[in-house]
Amino acid sequence: MKKTYKRGKTKVKKESVAQSLLERIFEYNITEIEPVYDLENGCNNSYPIVESILGSDVKIEPLLEEIAETGVLVKELFDKMVLCPKCDSQYISTRYNCPYCSSFDIEKSSLIEHIKCGYMDVEQNFRKGKKLVCPKCNGVLERADFDYKKAGVWCKCNNCSKNFDIPTPSHFCRKCGVISTFEEINLKNVYSYKVKDATQVGSKSIAFVNTAINNFLTKKGWKVQSPASVKGKSGAQHSFDIVAFKGSKSKKPIVLDIATSTENVVAEQPVVALFAKIFDVSPKKSFLVAIPKLNENGKKMAELYKIQIIEAQDQSKAIESLKESL
Ligand SMILES: [Zn+2]
Ligand SMILES: [Zn+2]
Ligand SMILES: [Zn+2]
Repeated sequence: MKKTYKRGKTKVKKESVAQSLLERIFEYNITEIEPVYDLENGCNNSYPIVESILGSDVKIEPLLEEIAETGVLVKELFDKMVLCPKCDSQYISTRYNCPYCSSFDIEKSSLIEHIKCGYMDVEQNFRKGKKLVCPKCNGVLERADFDYKKAGVWCKCNNCSKNFDIPTPSHFCRKCGVISTFEEINLKNVYSYKVKDATQVGSKSIAFVNTAINNFLTKKGWKVQSPASVKGKSGAQHSFDIVAFKGSKSKKPIVLDIATSTENVVAEQPVVALFAKIFDVSPKKSFLVAIPKLNENGKKMAELYKIQIIEAQDQSKAIESLKESL
């Protein structure tokens, strides 16, 4: 049966960008990728740290999304960006308006209560030069929360002279001048991305080894897809960390899975998992890359299942061993 490959050439190209980004992230010990607002360019926000690695002509947000899906980056909501409903700009100011006449020409002041006599008024009516003096009892207010307390805000409209405590907000687009209400504005989620602890997930070594193998196979004339999914005899799709083939797509590919362990030795489960897949897919050759090594049980099973083991303390050891078994 003809094997089908889910991912096309363009996808592979994009993934190699993702991989080189990952490599740099670990190389430079970047722990977090935070957005910076770009007021000039509509609703875009940028990730300068990524731009400095990849240049500015790569679409960074979808790339980060894709890496986040693999679990290496953890996406966190950083902000909700308010966008102008007319021009999509984020260069927007918030206006607090009079609820009676909608004017934004309002004065905001604090309400103060003189604790001793209970008199309450706006702050400016207590102001005598640098001091606060009670207009009712003439007592001097010195210590906050002792002589007096702030009892909230009080607004006065300079247009209609009415008083109120809670203004009505609106948004003013500094780019196109449109004024919009909460109902009209658009909200866009902005994310930051935390790099998952590399030692914990082994993603650092996986990313490095994956990239090294990818580059090696490509140089040797293989067409590489990573990750890739291959349809088996049963009709089920099976995913592998790396699938590579030479010549036409109907030829049998080689498949590789990469496994790592926090306990310094990979147990047999990935061997079993790989066997279940290759049983259905029947590739030309299959490899399990164990970082840094595979336990004895795993090795015995691999021999039985005809899975070639590549023990990779680092990238160059992995390549050396792959070269020998290809
Ligand atoms: Zn008083
Ligand atoms: Zn008013
Ligand atoms: Zn606008």
